[in-house]
Amino acid sequence: MAEVTMDKIVSLCKRRGFIFQSSEIYGGLNGAYDYGPMGVQLKNNIRDFWWKEMTQIHDGIVGLDASILMHPRVWEASGHVSNFTDPMVDCKQCRSRFRADQIDLNGACPTCGTKESFTEPRNFNLMFSTHIGADADSGSTIYLRPETAQGIYVDFKNIVQSSRVKIPFGIAQVGKSFRNEITTKNFIFRSCEFEQMEMQWFCKPGSDEQWFSYWREQRMAFYEKLGIQRSSLRWHQHGPDELAFYAKDAYDIQFLFPMGWQELEGVHNRTDYDLTQHQTFSGKEMNYLDPESNERYIPYVVETSAGLTRNVLMALSDAYEEETLEGGDVRTVLHFHPKIAPVTVAVLPLVKKDGIADYASRLEKELREDFVTFFDVSGAIGRRYRRMDEIGTPYCVTVDYDTLQDDTVTLRFRDSMEQVRVPITELVATIGKATKEYKRVEA
Ligand code: ATP
Repeated sequence: MAEVTMDKIVSLCKRRGFIFQSSEIYGGLNGAYDYGPMGVQLKNNIRDFWWKEMTQIHDGIVGLDASILMHPRVWEASGHVSNFTDPMVDCKQCRSRFRADQIDLNGACPTCGTKESFTEPRNFNLMFSTHIGADADSGSTIYLRPETAQGIYVDFKNIVQSSRVKIPFGIAQVGKSFRNEITTKNFIFRSCEFEQMEMQWFCKPGSDEQWFSYWREQRMAFYEKLGIQRSSLRWHQHGPDELAFYAKDAYDIQFLFPMGWQELEGVHNRTDYDLTQHQTFSGKEMNYLDPESNERYIPYVVETSAGLTRNVLMALSDAYEEETLEGGDVRTVLHFHPKIAPVTVAVLPLVKKDGIADYASRLEKELREDFVTFFDVSGAIGRRYRRMDEIGTPYCVTVDYDTLQDDTVTLRFRDSMEQVRVPITELVATIGKATKEYKRVEA
């Protein structure tokens, strides 16, 4: 089987309108990306899948959309102003910049090969700062949030008082985060502007370890439900040198990206650190009164923190296959789960004439009520199937001369390429059932 490389994914993403480099006509901006027509649909679908799992299917999780700009004291309380730094070195020869913890400082520069060329490591804060209001003085400095979690902690009291939630409960949020990353290679894996899907689970101190293992299980099950191959997912527990100073325990879900195993999501036991910090810095009580036992305590927090844009890269890498067919032809196919595929159903009239395209067009408009559809009349049918395979469309519906006689169509399945004849009255139900029962065939 042909190897999946980052170059192949980047090239498909550009060619088929998934992801473009930001401001490309000006030479591009490092660490920033634009999601094209296919990419935005894929990203939204993954987001919606997560949101539904968390806030609709799971008990006791409510949603939040906090603002990106927050009071600057938030980031003092959270520790980001003093601690959110990476050690940085420059090559004195070619001026390339690296994270000191990602290279061998006694070795040669990875860019130009010069030995002993690095500057002393300097700490570099990853938060982007800007100014609010008309005066750009130090008192007006604010930050673009580097994580969505703090919005959740800061609104903890508001939610307890307004939403009838009882501990244990969770708050889920999806949104943009910003980090001035020193190295932004590997496409959208590490970008300066990205999106996170975070859920903070508030529980009684003492029950945190049990919830921590519960959420580890849930989060791994999520990726399997999303149709990701289990053999491409694994756990990594943080050792003492990796563990954040406030965390009691932390595991990463890693995915086998084209460049190797890398973090996809973190599941962290953050104890009562964040709420205690906000209580100290704001002077406002952040505790919870248990209505049954009348106990008052600051809850512990188990956090599940996933990158949405990193999930997009995972979905693309996991789905990508160059499949050699009988007869030697190669097709590029994306095996997305039908629930996240940018287009669910393509409607393809076999020919334009004799009313076939009109029939297909009417059918496509009807299917729009239930699915994201795509209508394509141009080119040989085989080529149209290939185009749909390349963007991961799980179902193609072909309208032909027989359709005009008996109102049946050919339904083609992307992964198996199997074709079945289906009455149009049963199309929605057949596609719905196939989606519900979808199983990714492990490569
Ligand atoms: P790293 O050590 O790799 O910089 P991190 O451990 O600081 O990352 P977290 O703060 O735990 O990452 O962030 C949670 C999740 O957010 C990560 O698992 C990842 O999916 C996503 N994420 C973090 N930084 C970025 C980024 N620069 N670009 C894209 N996604 C990111």
